[in-house]
Amino acid sequence: MTWVLWGVYLIAAVLFIFGLKAMSSPKTAAAGIKWAGVGMVLATLATFFIPGEDGGLAYFAADKRINLILVVVALVLGTAGAAWLGKIVKMTDMPQMVAMYNGMGGGAAALIAAVEFTRDVPPTGVHAVLAMLGAFIGSVAFSGSILAWAKLQGVMKKAVRWPVQNFGNVMHSLVTLGLGIAIVVFGPNPWLVIAFFVMSLILGFALTSPIGGADMPVVISLLNAFTGVAVGLEGYVLGNPALIIAGIVVGAAGTLLTMLMAKAMNRPLTNVLFAPITGEAQAGGGMEGSMKEVNAMDAAAMMRYAESVFIVPGYGMAVAGAQHKVYEMTKLLEAEGVEVKFAIHPVAGRMPGHMNVLLAEAGVPYDQIFDLEEINSDFPMCDVALVIGANDVVNPVARTDKSSPIYGMPILDADKARQCIVIKRGRGAGYSGIENALFYADNTSMLYGSAQQAIADVVHSIKELS
Ligand code: NDP
Repeated sequence: MTWVLWGVYLIAAVLFIFGLKAMSSPKTAAAGIKWAGVGMVLATLATFFIPGEDGGLAYFAADKRINLILVVVALVLGTAGAAWLGKIVKMTDMPQMVAMYNGMGGGAAALIAAVEFTRDVPPTGVHAVLAMLGAFIGSVAFSGSILAWAKLQGVMKKAVRWPVQNFGNVMHSLVTLGLGIAIVVFGPNPWLVIAFFVMSLILGFALTSPIGGADMPVVISLLNAFTGVAVGLEGYVLGNPALIIAGIVVGAAGTLLTMLMAKAMNRPLTNVLFAPITGEAQAGGGMEGSMKEVNAMDAAAMMRYAESVFIVPGYGMAVAGAQHKVYEMTKLLEAEGVEVKFAIHPVAGRMPGHMNVLLAEAGVPYDQIFDLEEINSDFPMCDVALVIGANDVVNPVARTDKSSPIYGMPILDADKARQCIVIKRGRGAGYSGIENALFYADNTSMLYGSAQQAIADVVHSIKELS
């Protein structure tokens, strides 16, 4: 039976790894998610076949029936809840869902450690150290993710700061780890364990509370890596290979994604964590020039008679659900001989890959979608850049204004196109709260309106022109 169990864990591990690999391309991502899902189901079912000390199945022993019932109830509730949430969640609310799932994973890892510390024979030596570290990291990931959720959901509107916060957080971490070391050395005294968990949870809040604006995606990815590491450590404590492998895969993927996103925003991770972007100081002023308004027919004519149009989608397009209309407009323009390309910023929208997923869902061919580094040098040759509900990712102050908090972040060079049209509802700033110089540029025209309606009007006008 043990061989069967290990065989199933091996298959699950292979499915996790190949699933993750497949997720790196939009073409294979959906299949990758299914493979990883099958791996997760196998690893979960295998739990029921863990052998007990008497040679039978651990969970089916007479004195473990209550555990079996609890496991089944948890599985049914978890599966039903996740299936329901997965169905109703909007694409724009996905990051909140990811933050929640991160939190659940970190919290579960911390709970495993809590149970281990309350056993009659608690873990000792390396097992105690790993259980303690997993509890520490898992608790920080849990409370940090809850705060990240609150910020993304708009429940918590402002970054919260207090004097000498970074120094305070370092001291807080050291004291918490000191408590953890005391648990390992002197054994899990209940008060020590409670103090350790409370301090770890508060640390998660304290580390995440000052971070806001454009840094949130990096933080969520980092918390994801934390959860993976915590799960892997607790997997070692439990001697469960599926947990170890899943934890390592999530931890490694989360770490790589964090590094890639920090690079995409040209922000060292230390800046993200200890010198966050707030945008509050910049919002609302200091721009030269004025915004020039155009109507749908003007915008349609500019694009209809252009040779090339680059479309820059952003969060506003996602919120408006305008991707299908955008693709309809693309096909109309192409029918008139206009070359249309999509330019995607790595952090456009509210989660990594957000725009790619939406455009793929609308049927836009993959070879029409270009990453920032592939397309940026072509903007000066482009006749019209059409920015749809994007803001921070096309803000030229990131290139020009050394005093700006987003200085150095790579942006899509929409301002370098011959003409630029921006579709948005009003004069509001982007996610980071920073005013956008592109909107005031001489070659920029503003088409005010919700993306769905604005594009529908442009489609109508292009048809009239044809
Ligand atoms: P932004 O959030 O900077 O700007 C979106 C713009 O869309 C706003 O200026 C808003 O202006 C406009 N908008 C909102 N609703 C509509 C609508 N219905 N129709 C038309 N326009 C609309 O988006 P970007 O995509 O440019 O940048 C993403 C930002 O989000 C970055 O700062 C990034 O760091 C951050 N972020 C990214 C994550 C990721 O992983 N991709 C995760 C979390 C945050 P108005 O109100 O005037 O309409």
